[in-house]
Amino acid sequence: MEKIIDKIAALPPDAHYFSLEFFPPKTQMGSVNLQARLERMARALRPLFVTVTWGAGGTTATKSLELAEICQRQLQLTTCLHLTCTNMNRKLVDEALEEAKVLGIRNILALRGDPPRSEEYNIDGDDENDSNKEFTYAVDLVRYIRRVHGDYFCIGVAAYPEGHPGDSYTEPQDPVKDLPYLVEKVKAGADFIMTQLTYDLEAYRKFEEMLRNHESGVFKTIPIIPGLMPIQSYNILTRVTKLSHANIPPHILSRVEEVKSDDEKVKQVGVDILSEIVDGIKDIPCPGPRGFHFYTLNLEKSVSFVLERCDLIPPMTEDNDELDRDRDIAVIAAAQNGVLDENQKRSRRRASSINSQPYNRVIVDKLRVPSEKSSGGSFSYETTALSAGVPAMNPPPRSTTLQISEGVGSLGREATWDDFPNGRWGDARSPAFGEIDGYGPSLHVSATVARRLWGYPTSRSDINTLFRRHVSGELHIVPWSEGGAPEETGGLNAETATIRTELLKLIDKGWWTLASQPAVNGVRSDHPIFGWGPPGEGFVFQKAFVEFFCPGEDYQSYIKPLLQRYGEDEFAWFATNAAGDFESSFSLATGTTTTTTGAGTGSAADEFSELHDNSRGMAVTWGVFRGKEITTPTIIEEVSFRAWGDEAYRIWDEWRRIYPRGSPTERFLDATKKDVWLVCVIGQRYGAGTEPGSAEEDREAKMLWRVLAGEEQEPDYDPIDHDDTGTLKKIERGMEWNLYYPEMKYYVCSESGPLTSLLNDFMN
Ligand SMILES: Cc1cc2nc3c(=O)[nH]c(=O)nc-3n(C[C@H](O)[C@H](O)[C@H](O)COP(=O)(O)OP(=O)(O)OC[C@H]3O[C@@H](n4cnc5c(N)ncnc54)[C@H](O)[C@@H]3O)c2cc1C
Repeated sequence: MEKIIDKIAALPPDAHYFSLEFFPPKTQMGSVNLQARLERMARALRPLFVTVTWGAGGTTATKSLELAEICQRQLQLTTCLHLTCTNMNRKLVDEALEEAKVLGIRNILALRGDPPRSEEYNIDGDDENDSNKEFTYAVDLVRYIRRVHGDYFCIGVAAYPEGHPGDSYTEPQDPVKDLPYLVEKVKAGADFIMTQLTYDLEAYRKFEEMLRNHESGVFKTIPIIPGLMPIQSYNILTRVTKLSHANIPPHILSRVEEVKSDDEKVKQVGVDILSEIVDGIKDIPCPGPRGFHFYTLNLEKSVSFVLERCDLIPPMTEDNDELDRDRDIAVIAAAQNGVLDENQKRSRRRASSINSQPYNRVIVDKLRVPSEKSSGGSFSYETTALSAGVPAMNPPPRSTTLQISEGVGSLGREATWDDFPNGRWGDARSPAFGEIDGYGPSLHVSATVARRLWGYPTSRSDINTLFRRHVSGELHIVPWSEGGAPEETGGLNAETATIRTELLKLIDKGWWTLASQPAVNGVRSDHPIFGWGPPGEGFVFQKAFVEFFCPGEDYQSYIKPLLQRYGEDEFAWFATNAAGDFESSFSLATGTTTTTTGAGTGSAADEFSELHDNSRGMAVTWGVFRGKEITTPTIIEEVSFRAWGDEAYRIWDEWRRIYPRGSPTERFLDATKKDVWLVCVIGQRYGAGTEPGSAEEDREAKMLWRVLAGEEQEPDYDPIDHDDTGTLKKIERGMEWNLYYPEMKYYVCSESGPLTSLLNDFMN
């Protein structure tokens, strides 16, 4: 039985069930780890089905199908493939449906995706296969699937308890407005409804009541599955709700805000909040089994806690027992002291890292069960490496792990190694690494809004102006922003505002800054701007970094030579371009040649290096807290930089696609994309060992900015640059002149003065 609708029908009318949503990870290592995680969650949590997201416009088509295959075929989970229908090659819809059939997938969540662009915006110029000719709304896809595939697929459709935000985001959201179209989707053949995430129980209650009582009668018995997203961190909560236009009721927001700087506390409060919402929804009368859909963000812990707390995990059946016989058995021991209470005893043994309290656990090879003799109750803090989501490459030996008690050692930390995702700045090995909505690279605003915000640039100075306005706080987002910032806020956070002047200097050079942070030499964790983690219990540090697009010529003849002259002890850096060329301080220091992979393709060599070499990177933000290992929430490494580089260049394409094909802006953006390099530079100094508040500390903290701005007197020049033309090369920086004579491999520099005579000396 593979159709969701049949599986629901087979449940007792008063049963509860749930589904879990996953997105295709950005990196190879993320995929490897997601597979382990999925396997564990499948056995431990037993969802009725799982869903796999689809990048709008088909951007993740291959990866989505690969993940769906793993879920359906390898893990034998009933799988539902999300499928959008707009702004892509029409053939992709057919291919996805055919491929789903081949894989044994019988469930499709039929979605529209982004608003369809009209013909003139079809960049590929493939008018015949433009999906927008066939599909304008999700209902068209529902009809199409029914027409071509009859009843083969069980079809789900999306609904919005707080109203769809509309395509211009200017009209107020109102679920009543969307209602006729939802009726159409159901009449066209939808079997179930899955909703946008919501934290507003009252809004959800009203929405479901409205549907059930609708005069058409089409919603009387159809399964309506509310979408819920566990709260992973304050930032994710606020960003995700902005992106999905969901309201956070004040009584919920205030509870999260109270602990917002402490991710661990936020997670605990989040589990309470979600559990209350689930319990509230359980009280709403339902004509059949009551389902819940969880947007997991590819993470495991929070959703496991909620499912456990709300008693949503179905009981073990004989079959399940059979399946699990040969596996490690994890014991659910919720209480921190390791004593099982009656409820927990009733809850089944299961293979999982979960625990009804979000605490760290020690990783062990094989779990002990409570009946075994154990010194103290420490078994409750143990989990297998597999269960903990530790990358399979390197499982820690038991002898080491047992030295660490109560999950606070380095291995205890690994048990929760990706528990606090940080978007693209987190650990690239985590399945959760990267974007948070899993819908692929996007501008995060509609084309109409994008054109209103960014106009019609046709020169670099037009783009300079956009970035200048953004960094000055006049423009809340640029195309590469993560989205979610309210328009009226200016979008720049307080931390970035501390380096506004420095960023503006770079922008004035034509280097468009996408991300950055200042150096911080150990401030208290409750610092109003830089603080994070448990307040008053530690200190936080940062290395300065900046990531920007710059003209290819600037990169090749100025930035790269400059950074090489300083060496990797001063600056670590990564750079890539639209063609997929990649260079870094690490690769050049070790003589590794530039690799051309073609953006987004990822050669076998890359995948190998991703899986086997994660040394080319570093933590740029870290915190030292009482009783804890050093925490490193922001990491920059080759793998993550490459994955982001691929996405960042796709965003150039997303941007140009909002302008008519062949228009001056479209052509300019295309040419610019092909020319610019994306560069990320990390300053190694942050003031360590200097007197707090001293001029020396300040000098170190500002080093990166001064060097990039050309304001720093360079150290003695080493032979560094390579001028392929073999001609004399002159680089001007402010008042300073550098002359590079390739055969002599020597630079001559002067603040002003008579260079010619010096040069003649050298040449003779
Ligand atoms: C559960 C869920 C999963 C999702 N998964 C993905 C995903 O994997 N990938 C992805 O890219 N996006 C995903 N989305 C986002 C979705 O693609 C967007 O929200 C999109 O803007 C709308 O999709 P839809 O299927 O609801 O569209 P539709 O049902 O077509 O509705 C879109 C808008 O058009 C209006 N409308 C519908 N029909 C008509 C009509 N005949 N005339 C006039 N107006 C009409 C609706 O009121 C609504 O405002 C998901 C959303 C949800 C809720």
